[in-house]
Amino acid sequence: MANDNKRSAFNATRLTSSTFLIKEFDDIYSEHPYVYAIIIPAKSESVLSSRHGTIILIDTGCGGASNDPNARISSLREFIETVEVTDNDNKPLNGDDDRQGRMGYIVVLTHCHYDHILGVEHFSDSLILASSHYPEFFHNIPEHSLCNFLNIHTPKYKPTLVPHGHTISNRITILHTPGHTPDSLTVYDPTSEQPMLYVGDSLYEYEPIIFPSEGSIVDWFRSVEALIEFVRNQESLLAIDLEDKEDSDVLGTGAVTHRVYNQRGAPRQQGRILLNAGHVTCLEPALTVLQTAKVFIEDVVGGREPVRRRWVKRGEQTVEYRQSRQDRDTGIRNTTGETNSRFSLICPERLHSRRT
Ligand SMILES: [Zn+2]
Repeated sequence: MANDNKRSAFNATRLTSSTFLIKEFDDIYSEHPYVYAIIIPAKSESVLSSRHGTIILIDTGCGGASNDPNARISSLREFIETVEVTDNDNKPLNGDDDRQGRMGYIVVLTHCHYDHILGVEHFSDSLILASSHYPEFFHNIPEHSLCNFLNIHTPKYKPTLVPHGHTISNRITILHTPGHTPDSLTVYDPTSEQPMLYVGDSLYEYEPIIFPSEGSIVDWFRSVEALIEFVRNQESLLAIDLEDKEDSDVLGTGAVTHRVYNQRGAPRQQGRILLNAGHVTCLEPALTVLQTAKVFIEDVVGGREPVRRRWVKRGEQTVEYRQSRQDRDTGIRNTTGETNSRFSLICPERLHSRRT
């Protein structure tokens, strides 16, 4: 199929043998959301895997409205099913010469903000999962998605709300991680050759971590501390597993080892969990990013970072902080705090006075 003229609002790159990053790279909202696709092959033992396999989609982007007037493909689903991807042997992620959309979908929404749900209506025939942590939050999606604030159409969808610890395909685990919003969740996928943690908007680097009016820094600290503990435990198990494999010489028997790349193209270590966020941050060591982000927010609530900006947003006094203290991971001191701070924060001022 010829796609030469199919300019699209999306592009896709391979992260591992079973995982792709789909970027909505030039959206009119300047959100540049990251959508992830995990391919569960048909031969998998999973009870949820359909006859032709399943794609687990983490989020659905912000609807395909592009700054490029020639971008003809604005539907995430159409992109996945019809646009050839170089990293996928020049085939669409879910389609070939015989048939488009052969694999089924399970959509996991990391939370209901508009830049994660505006593509969801195209998956109304699929299972759509969201957090059951605070079900009342879904009673007013137009408000809580920020669609009302932006005066845009709120997508209609019926999420299946799942508990903390819910598993897909027996191994992919959903963790409730409220903080950014009450419905924020994290997905842990140990099935990829390098285990992945998908954290949505809970944190990322080099763009402000944002708490809307509905956010809670108190909950965020609890969630991030729980994730640090979770990653530590899982990495200990992975280390034991790797030792066992070395003992039994499994790695020496010719098993294919897939290289995992971060955005700078460097291969990553075995036994480490990598963090993928809803924006900007992808394939970074999960434990380090979680710990350093937590230190930065602790510096903010501890009064060790100055307010950089103050304004009214959605009727609330809002403040911005940018990391100026030395980054304990990189050792870089952001002396100005003006540009390129690894971490920054935008939140209603009342939120960070609540940590006690
Ligand atoms: Zn968000």
